Parts: sequence; C-alpha cells; structure tokens
Amino acid sequence: MGNRACMAFLSALSEAPPLCPACGQPMSFLERRSKTLTTLMGTDSFSRSYYLCEACGQHHMPKDHLLGVHHTAFSPGVRRAVTILSSAGSFEWTSDVLADVADISVSAKECQRIAEQTGEKLICEFEARKNELWSSVISAQSNLNDSVCPPEKTIPAFYIEADGTGIPMMKRETAGRTGKQEDGSAKTREAKLGCIFTQTKADEKGDPVRDPKSTSYFGAIETAELFGERVYVQAIERGMQRANRVVFLADGAKWLWNIADLHFPQAIQIVDLYHASEHIHTLIRKLCSIPDQIAELTDDWIGALKQGDIEVLTAKIEAYPAPDHLQDEVKREINYLLENKERMRYAKFKSQCLFVGSGVIEAGCKTVIGKRLKNSGMFWSLRGANSMIAVRCADLSCNMDIMGAA
Ligand SMILES: [Zn+2]
Repeated sequence: MGNRACMAFLSALSEAPPLCPACGQPMSFLERRSKTLTTLMGTDSFSRSYYLCEACGQHHMPKDHLLGVHHTAFSPGVRRAVTILSSAGSFEWTSDVLADVADISVSAKECQRIAEQTGEKLICEFEARKNELWSSVISAQSNLNDSVCPPEKTIPAFYIEADGTGIPMMKRETAGRTGKQEDGSAKTREAKLGCIFTQTKADEKGDPVRDPKSTSYFGAIETAELFGERVYVQAIERGMQRANRVVFLADGAKWLWNIADLHFPQAIQIVDLYHASEHIHTLIRKLCSIPDQIAELTDDWIGALKQGDIEVLTAKIEAYPAPDHLQDEVKREINYLLENKERMRYAKFKSQCLFVGSGVIEAGCKTVIGKRLKNSGMFWSLRGANSMIAVRCADLSCNMDIMGAA
C-alpha cells in the first residue's frame, strides 16, 4: 500500500464516539482535524475526529492514541528506526541514513529528541522495576518463614563486573567539579558501567567459557550508591538467586568493593589479574633499568602473583633494595597487595574454573560507551548522556529490547 493510500486508510478508519478519559462521560464530536505524520513510507497527513467532553471540558483525539502518535509527528516504526540507528551512530548520521535509504526526512535534532525520549522511557521503566523490587523485598522480609523453598540452583557461575569511564561533557555539566585538567577542572564525568554474564562450561584447556548471549549491560552517570542499587536490581532480575557461585570482578577501585560488600556479601571477590599485573610491572620499571634484571624480577614477581602467593610476593618486594625516594611508592604497592590479597588467590580461582580477568567490562566500556559517546567533537548534557547510555545498554544486552521502549 502506498503512502497516500495508507493515509486515506488511516483517515477512513472509523471511530466510535469515546468516553471521556478524565470523567468517563460520553464525548461529543467537535470537528475533523488533520495531522501530519512521518511514517516509514514518508510524510503525509491524515484526518481524525476531535472530541470534546461537555461535562468536564477535556479534549481528546482517540485515533492518535490508537495509532501510538499522541503528541508526536512520527509513527512508532519511525521512532524505532531512529532509536536503533541512533544507538549505532550520531544523530546526524541517523538523519542522513533515513534520508538516503528510506527517503524519510527527520532532522538530526528530531532524531536526538526521539532517541533520548526512548532512553528516558527505559530509565523510567528501570526506576519502576526497582521500586517494585524494593517493596517486594521489604514485604518478604516481614513475613519470612521456614516454608519458603530456596530457588533451584541452575546457574553454575554468575559474574558481575563493573568499571568507570569518562564521558566528555558540555561546560555547564562540569562547572565547579574537579578533574584531570592541568588547572584542576574537569572536562568529563564518570559513567559507571556494569555487566552480568553467566558461565557453565570450560574449554578443552579447562579455561572458563562465557555463556553465549548471556551478557547484559547497565549504567549511568550517577553516584556509587545509586549505581550499587542498580547492580543489585539487575543481578536479581538476571536470576542471581539461582546461582551456585556469584563472582564480583573489578579492577580494584575502592568504591566497587564497597558495592560488592554491601550488596553481594556472598560473592567471591576477584581483582582483575591484568590490572594487578600492571601494578607490578610499573613498580619493577621504576625500581630497575637493567633489561636482564627486569626480566628476572618480572618472572619472579608476576609468577608469585599468578600463584596468588601475595604474602610471598610482598616479602620479595620488601627484600628488594629500593632507593630512598621510592620507599613510599613501594609501601603503597605492598599495602595495595595486602589489602586485596584474598581477592588475588589466582591459582585457587583458576582451579575452581573461574575467570580472573575483567575483560568483559573493559571491552564494554569501549563498545557500549566509548564507541557511541566518546567520539571527537561530542559533548553531552547529563540528561542526554544518561538517555543514550540507557539506549546503548538496552541495544547491546541479551535480555533487553529497545524495540519495546521506542
Ligand atoms: Zn470529561
């Protein structure tokens, strides 16, 4: 059906006189009004009936609600297309693709508005689910009894990873905040990103394998406290209660371990092995400049780290004759290792067939956030950034559908 015929069809769709959505009284027909609508077939107008409630003064156009175009000039199909494309590329690119491929005219500004509305809808939906979960947790605690069966454990290993990554912001969004610029100001704000995936199998070498299509992402520019609640809600929704083992993997930032302690006391906590190794490599390069010695120290210290013999490793570091000006640095590294030693029992974790690297979230920071929100020349408002983070996460997660929200 061509666009003209489609619009004629929409205009001819019969409408029974509605009841007032505000007071429930029958409404009176006022007039026909035309509306310009952009659908996947192009832009044209159709007409629909405009009703008035004589009892309470409410106006209503039932056909707009029926078609899902109330307060918008774009069909649900166009809004879906815009959101999906805007998740992949810039709003300008989205506008160009729609014009080139489908001969549909939606300006970059309109694409941005549509995609961000979808993001805001996803954010609201999450808030609603969170509130619902909170109230069910509270009511479950108040009538806890012994007859409640624990859920069947069907997930062998359930992983939670989290990290932070900077997003370039508009000036007004960083005013007064301290950051990494030379004058102490900030150009970026940290988005916190989390992911969840499961693991059932190992490969022929005995290394753990991430279950296909099991990864979901979630995040926002928000406080650690709110992010912690976000991670918890997502973990419950992904079925953490059915997991035999829960693993919390991160790079070692304190705020992340605080979240793990508060919301996931049952979890095995693991510091990303590569991150811990980087600490050791950096220290060795500072302590020593002779290539042969560097190689020897690296073998020795990284070897101890991989074994998870943190007490042995720190004794080796302590025994090394460090020059005076590096004493503080050496102490700091030893403290870092000792503070995290139980999170660095790598040989034990490997023997339990667990992942010891947080590569999934590091890749996630690049693909989910970086690829879409950190391109050169991009500066975000807080609202815009959080909307698009929500869209990206929904787009790239195994358990979400942006189609539903668009
Ligand atoms: Zn009324």
